[in-house]
Amino acid sequence: MIRFDKVVKRFGDVTVLRELDFHVRPGERVTLIGPSGSGKTTILRLLMTLERVTSGTIEVDGQYLSHMRRGDRLVPADERHLRQVRKKVGMVFQQFNLFPNMNVLRNITEAPVRALGVPRDQAEAKARELLEMVELADKADEHPSRLSGGQQQRVAIARALAMEPEVLLLDEVTSALDPELVSGVQCLLRDIAQQGNLTLLCVTHEMRFARDISDRVLMFDQGQIVEEGDPEQIFTEPTHQRTRDFLQAVL
Ligand code: ADP
Repeated sequence: MIRFDKVVKRFGDVTVLRELDFHVRPGERVTLIGPSGSGKTTILRLLMTLERVTSGTIEVDGQYLSHMRRGDRLVPADERHLRQVRKKVGMVFQQFNLFPNMNVLRNITEAPVRALGVPRDQAEAKARELLEMVELADKADEHPSRLSGGQQQRVAIARALAMEPEVLLLDEVTSALDPELVSGVQCLLRDIAQQGNLTLLCVTHEMRFARDISDRVLMFDQGQIVEEGDPEQIFTEPTHQRTRDFLQAVL
């Protein structure tokens, strides 16, 4: 579903990703862990086409992000191609990023209506179903500012799912929350991860959450994967010294 092939990303003189290769299979749930500044968020931003690779290629569901096929040649992607690939990928951010001037229902329906052309009544019916799922059915008419952080994050999750993405990216989704709100959001995401056949790529500092929701964990350091394995192996018998040091510091 996702394939990075020799991806290099530089910001000025700083090389953030160094010939990075990795893939995520359809329906697989993968978590990226590693020290701050190791390039994890950059990977998600590349997948959202918020950044462009310096070199190398990224594919989502068989389509290149930065290029498109024309006959047997690859040419730079145009806006139409990018829009199409973007539809496959949803993201939930650390800071929720809800539209402050729209009520909850509108926050969820706006993108399906505008970007996918879903009729408004259909989008609203779906949004109400999703609000039911995130246990906020009674907040449809509220504005985000009237909700707690945990509730805002659950709206953001519903909003991402309303686009019916193939891939859901989660970027430190609980780190801006008060501690007592964290477990509600994590449980919801664990249920979503276990139910659907959504492909999940998650960045988190919460190791218990990583363990709960992942099939595979990738340990990053300085823009490269230093170790990968199933959560049990990574968290109980990491083989790499850098993974051991990192886990010792965060656990
Ligand atoms: P992580 O998510 O692992 O903490 P990031 O992907 O956020 O790491 O950042 C990796 C490195 O890239 C950091 O050194 C950061 O300062 C740098 N970086 C990220 N985005 C930009 C940007 N837009 N301009 C310059 N440097 C950036």
